Parts: sequence; structure tokens; C-alpha cells
Amino acid sequence: MTERLTILGSTGTIGVNTLNVIARHPERFAIHALTGHRQIALLAGQCRQFRPAVAVVADAAAADALAGLLDGLPIDIRHGAAALAEVAAAPETDTVMAAIVGAAGLPPTLAAVRAGKRILLANKESLVVAGRLFMDAVRKSGSVLLAIDSEHNAIFQSLPASFRGDLDAVGVERIVLTASGGPFRGYTAAALEAVTPEQAVAHPNWVMGRKISVDSASLMNKGLEVIEARWLFNADPSRIEVVVHPQSVIHSMVRYRDGSVVAQLGTPDMKTPIAHALAWPDRFEAGVAPLDFMALGGLTFEQPDRDSFPCLQLAFDALAEGGDASAVLNAANEIAVDAFLSRRIGFGDIPRLNAQAMSRFAGRHGESIDALLETDAEVRRYVEQCIGCLQPAG
Ligand code: NAD
Ligand code: MG
Repeated sequence: MTERLTILGSTGTIGVNTLNVIARHPERFAIHALTGHRQIALLAGQCRQFRPAVAVVADAAAADALAGLLDGLPIDIRHGAAALAEVAAAPETDTVMAAIVGAAGLPPTLAAVRAGKRILLANKESLVVAGRLFMDAVRKSGSVLLAIDSEHNAIFQSLPASFRGDLDAVGVERIVLTASGGPFRGYTAAALEAVTPEQAVAHPNWVMGRKISVDSASLMNKGLEVIEARWLFNADPSRIEVVVHPQSVIHSMVRYRDGSVVAQLGTPDMKTPIAHALAWPDRFEAGVAPLDFMALGGLTFEQPDRDSFPCLQLAFDALAEGGDASAVLNAANEIAVDAFLSRRIGFGDIPRLNAQAMSRFAGRHGESIDALLETDAEVRRYVEQCIGCLQPAG
């Protein structure tokens, strides 16, 4: 039977990789919807190749531009946030790849969860902003939730199939997230003040979107992944370890009570976790180069440098504080990263702004998704103001 898919964020790095894997297995999948925000030319090419029933873009102007490129193809073109949620929850789709970047991915991903879809979750920000409510919704609807983030996908593969949210029940002591350390591994805090956006987005092992590349460089990505792991695996933060492993061959590990450590290894290529989740519980080809042990110089490990990279600790602090703290951290970080990429602030301002927002909004407890999104919007306005004050006059 063909599985019907909606790909939220089909024009991003994860979206493109997903379509590459799907193209290898045309008999298994049919595309219900693709969404591409403002990347219209790329989306038009995807529409011609994969013939979705629906395509969703940012606004009316983008919709007109797409229609112009599609030349009468029978594709329903929609726009805006409500349309994203509609294609995610549509009865014509079985599975949703959630690959929009940032908190913008939360509402449509949650719509898919509430509709009981099978969810392939790349958008880690959904869990960072609303982990508890998101996981409650998964339990309530009975959605199958599969992680695309390579670390979480590796942990899932290293856990027994009987795992149902209780690590103790399956003999797990700790979860070990591996981190590449990013392009600035070994830099001092002072050296980090001078780095440029070009250096930050040049990741040594992975090709990724600009936002997650900056997050990898600041170790905020690892912090967001600690929060993601806390919710996905119901893991107390004291049971989550972070180890820097610059080769990115071990994608993460699970330590068991008896001393066993189970890991998932592979060539660093997101097509592996994408194919794993698309085929689960089967396995199929991903088009990834096999891991060549003889070509590996060796596998090395080090402690993360929490002084030069304070964003990692901010994530643990946010989990310890609870309430809306993780949502506050995420919103502040999205604004700070955007400002860094557009050269309005320096790299060292990212952790400073994140910490400042966390202390300004300490003690918030949103009881609903709407309250969390309201906090998210307020934090964004606040951090924009702070950035305005950082700028040299004139
Ligand atoms: P990307 O920047 O390459 O792509 C983002 C996608 O989201 C694009 O399709 C874009 O059109 C769409 N988009 C952007 N803003 C939007 C908005 N406001 N509304 C609707 N759509 C919008 O990002 P990416 O690297 O593919 O990452 C996507 C998600 O997957 C992120 O949450 C990231 O953390 C996660 N992730 C990525 C990787 C990776 O290797 N790239 C690995 C693990 C997790
Ligand atoms: Mg990751």
C-alpha cells in the first residue's frame, strides 16, 4: 500500500534529503502536500517531479509566483499558517515530515499530532517550545512519533523495541548525546567574539540550514537536543550526558545498567535517519555511502567546553527552571541567530541575549499552546529591542 505524505519544509535541507530518499522508493510513497514558504523556484521543481495534490507557500504573492511557474499543472496552491496546519492534518495524508525550521513549525506539527498522523520529527523546536504539551498530545492521539535528528534517531535505534517511555524499565542508566563540537571547537571565548557568519555556517561534517548551522557552532543545537531528548525519552536531565566526538560517526549512545553501551554508527548523512524513519519498522536503501572503517583515522572524545559555549548550559538551566523557560530560550535564540546572520550582532552576543531573555522572563508558566506562543512573540519583541540597544548610534 502506498503511504501518503505531507512534507512541511520540503525546500529545506531535510526536505530535499527526504525527497531524495522517497525518489528511490516510488512504489511506497505518494505526496499529498509540499510546503516551501518563499523558495518558490525550488518548490516548483519539486512539484513538477513529485506531483503533490497541494503546495503551500508563505503568502499570496508567493502563491502567484508559484502558479506562474507551474503553468496549469493541477496542483492546489494555498498560502499561510492555516494552510500548513490543514495539509498536516488532512485525511488525505498518513505521515507528516515536520521539517520547517524554528517555532513556526510547532502549530502545523501539532495539528498533525492531534490528527493522529505518523510524525517524522526534524523540527526539534516543537519539543523545545512545548515539550510537555506536545508529548501529552502524542499520547492522547496515539500518533507514532519518530525522531529525525540524528542523535535521537540513534538513541531510538539503541533502545529496545519494548521501550515505552520508562528508561528504568528497560535497564537504561543514561543517554549519551554526541556532539561534533562544530566549526569553532577549541576556540576561546575571546576568539569567538570575532567569528563571521560565513565561518559559522561552514560545518565540518554536516550540510544543514543556516539556523541549525549557527546553533551547531554555538552548541545551542546540542542544548536544544538535550531538551528534545528529555521529552522524547522521558529522561531526567541528570541522565543526559553530552560528549564531544568530532568525527560524527557515533551518532549517540545508550548506557545500560549492566555496563553495556549501545551505539548507532554511520556515515554522517541525514538520509540515514530519514530513511530509517520512513521505512520503520522495516529498513530500506537510503543512498548513503557505507561507513569505511579503514578510512577513519580514529574516533576521539572530549568534554564540551561549557565556558566558551554557554548556550549548552543555558539549556540545562531552562530544563531545571521548567515552565516556559525552554520556549523563552528558543525564541531569544531564533532572534539572536537571525541578527548574527545579518551582521547586526556578534557571535558572543547570542548566549548573552539568550541568558538576558531567560532572566527577564523567569517564572513564566504557560498552561496552553496559545500562552506559549504568546510568550514566544513577547520574547521576540524584547530581544529585538535589546539588539537595537546594542547597536552603535548613528
Ligand atoms: P532549512 O533552513 O534548510 O529549511 C527550512 C524549511 O522551512 C524550508 O523549507 C523553508 O522554506 C521552511 N520555512 C522557513 N521558515 C518558515 C516559516 N516561517 N513558515 C513555514 N515554513 C518555513 O532548515 P533544515 O536544516 O532543513 O532544518 C529544518 C529542521 O530540521 C530544523 O528544525 C532543524 O533543527 C532540524 N534538523 C535539521 C538537520 C539538518 O541536518 N539539516 C538535522 C537535525 C535536525
Ligand atoms: Mg542533531
